[in-house]
Amino acid sequence: NPFHGADVPDPQFFDHGDLVGVLTAQPLDRILDYKAPEGGCHLGAFVEVPLGPRKVLGVVWGAGKGDYDRAKIRSVIRVLDAAPMRDEMKQFLTRAAEYTLTPMSAMLRLATRAPGLGDPPSMKKVFRLGQVAPDRMTPARARVIETLNDYGGLAFTLKELAETADVSTSVIKGLAAQRAVLEEDRPRDLPFPHLDPDHSGKTLTGDQQAGAEALRAGVRTGQYGTTLLRGVTGSGKTEVYLEAVAECLSQGRQALVLLPEIALTAEFLTRVEARFGARPAEWHSGVTMTERRRIWKMVGQGGAQLVVGARSALFLPFQNLGLIVVDEEHDTSYKQEDGVLYNARDMTVLRASICGARVVLASATPSLESWANAEAGKYDKLTLTDRFGVAVMPVMKCIDMRNESLPSDRWISPSLQRAVTARLEKGEQSLLFINRRGYAPITLCRACGHQIGCDHCDARMVEHRFLKRLVCHQCGESKPMPEKCPSCEAEGRLAPVGPGVERLTEEAVALFPDARVVTLSSDMYGSARALKAEIEAIAAGAADIIIGTQLVAKGHNFPQLTLVGVIDADLGLQGSDLRAAERTFQLMRQVAGRAGRAERQGEALLQSYQPEHPVIRAILAGDEDGFWRAEAGERRHAGVPPYGRMAGIILSSTDPQEPFDVGTELARRDGPLRQIGAKVFGPAPAPIARIRGRHRVRLLVTADKGAPLQAALSRWVAQVRLSPQMRLAVDIDPQSF
Ligand code: ADP
Ligand code: ZN
Repeated sequence: NPFHGADVPDPQFFDHGDLVGVLTAQPLDRILDYKAPEGGCHLGAFVEVPLGPRKVLGVVWGAGKGDYDRAKIRSVIRVLDAAPMRDEMKQFLTRAAEYTLTPMSAMLRLATRAPGLGDPPSMKKVFRLGQVAPDRMTPARARVIETLNDYGGLAFTLKELAETADVSTSVIKGLAAQRAVLEEDRPRDLPFPHLDPDHSGKTLTGDQQAGAEALRAGVRTGQYGTTLLRGVTGSGKTEVYLEAVAECLSQGRQALVLLPEIALTAEFLTRVEARFGARPAEWHSGVTMTERRRIWKMVGQGGAQLVVGARSALFLPFQNLGLIVVDEEHDTSYKQEDGVLYNARDMTVLRASICGARVVLASATPSLESWANAEAGKYDKLTLTDRFGVAVMPVMKCIDMRNESLPSDRWISPSLQRAVTARLEKGEQSLLFINRRGYAPITLCRACGHQIGCDHCDARMVEHRFLKRLVCHQCGESKPMPEKCPSCEAEGRLAPVGPGVERLTEEAVALFPDARVVTLSSDMYGSARALKAEIEAIAAGAADIIIGTQLVAKGHNFPQLTLVGVIDADLGLQGSDLRAAERTFQLMRQVAGRAGRAERQGEALLQSYQPEHPVIRAILAGDEDGFWRAEAGERRHAGVPPYGRMAGIILSSTDPQEPFDVGTELARRDGPLRQIGAKVFGPAPAPIARIRGRHRVRLLVTADKGAPLQAALSRWVAQVRLSPQMRLAVDIDPQSF
């Protein structure tokens, strides 16, 4: 290489003493100058730098500006043992920050969620499963073994293992003494086992084959492109996109599959293992710290070919990302509602377009946004029309609740009861769906009419009889169920009002005393592991009636389930939220799709007091495109997403008046918004007017599709000064409006 002379400087490398600009995850919003350390450093290197009295993590973002006294500039302390951040990652973070109006420091925090990134390669001990069985099995010991088994032989530190298995550390030490578990030095971050794209594919149907081929061809282009993969639940979307993953792996590139729910990963990992012969890396909040650190590093070094994870996996330092799949792409949990407000689906498209990867958005009921993008030709469309094998879509019927005679405090109508009884006689499973956790949504004092609310939020406390507590679903605060009314002190007059999943279970047990009734609600299982075990047991036939919340709507396979009863199909239709129709439609179709996945014909019964409501009628008719067209028409008419742009501004403070005052001032000084033709609405109390003791006010801004909204918003909000207790959060494309 003629250019590789010693006198040709590498623009990607800074020699000892050169000035470098370092971005830290501290809320400073400035790139700080430092001197490159002894031995120099690469552009993008992860470094430790001094900041005041502290040492903090940072990334070498570029050359230093050198605009202040060189003598005062401090040196980088050391370069960390991690692959430098790639240019495409820097671009991704920068553009995501611009889009969501988030400070770069907060974006960097998302990208460095690797615990112990700065740790020296320590001599910490970790534990693995040994070959010897313990001399005596106790429940605690069994939990340790089970935990190690469950995590596929991953290493845990002593503390992590004790916490995950819920045992004291002495139990683990006892097992280690017998070599039933092995204590080792922390390995130097082992790569993940090799996934073989040709390990064992299924024989695809004609439809699936064509879809898989189209996705494979897309991956082979090595260029950005998005495909919306539609198909009813059970049509084989997963089988089809696993073929795209196989193609990506054959090309030697990395793949990422995002799932909306941790509870789904277990089932999915088993499928991946069957398809590729080994387990991929798994990234979500339930993964141990040791393991997260390993994944972060291995992804960066190319030692992890496939990552299966939650939305935050999008910020892992992939070296060579070729494909991102967003499964159940319509799911609202892809929107992060805390801290950095981003929608992982949109950020996926951004990341892929920067690094030249393919995107597959898979759903039985796509979001209106994705549907519109596909209609407009921005995304490729791929549809699987049939269910795999002999399974067909369930028959959908409405139970008109106005014609059912139901005593008060009963929710299972006689018609639904008959349908369940018929299933019980045939030995088939039924699912009763209600989208409400807990026992009852309202606890009312029959003496004074007081409803128990949260002390910190504008929300009711929900009785959870299973936990024997009242819980606030906004802030998580809980307290024991009081004996007396907190308002009038009357004793024994507090009464539950309305149904929750626990109360429905009670009713089902009373109506069907011989049936095995199981409740599936996220708050009733201590761990993802317990939930997974329950789901597997149900799939194997260990229940006759399943009572479930939203959790069951998502992708689980229950082959013996032939009846779905929706207790309150009208629940999502109330309120003024413009997305309510879309959400109800999606949820009802997802839930109904649980019925009849194997050889047996399924049936879905929707209990409704307004069967003539257009959304209920569209669900019954199964006319998906008709529904989307009607929805799209209304949104276009209202000029809201995806046909217009929208942002929510939430002002919050411990002081009740201040947010209104600042909001009013902003609404008045709307010049920067008017310049781009944007309009501001509000201030009005936010959908939840108080959370964790903070009073919240919302402004909504709408603009035309092409308008430079972010730039105008920045100029606009910069006009007001905020007191220390005030917070202003911008939510681009809010979920509810
Ligand atoms: P979706 O993702 O659309 O809900 P899945 O890919 O999960 O559908 O398929 C539903 C079920 O049918 C799964 O158990 C899957 O293994 C099975 N299945 C789908 N296609 C095939 C096929 N071609 N051969 C064997 N089993 C299949
Ligand atoms: Zn609360």
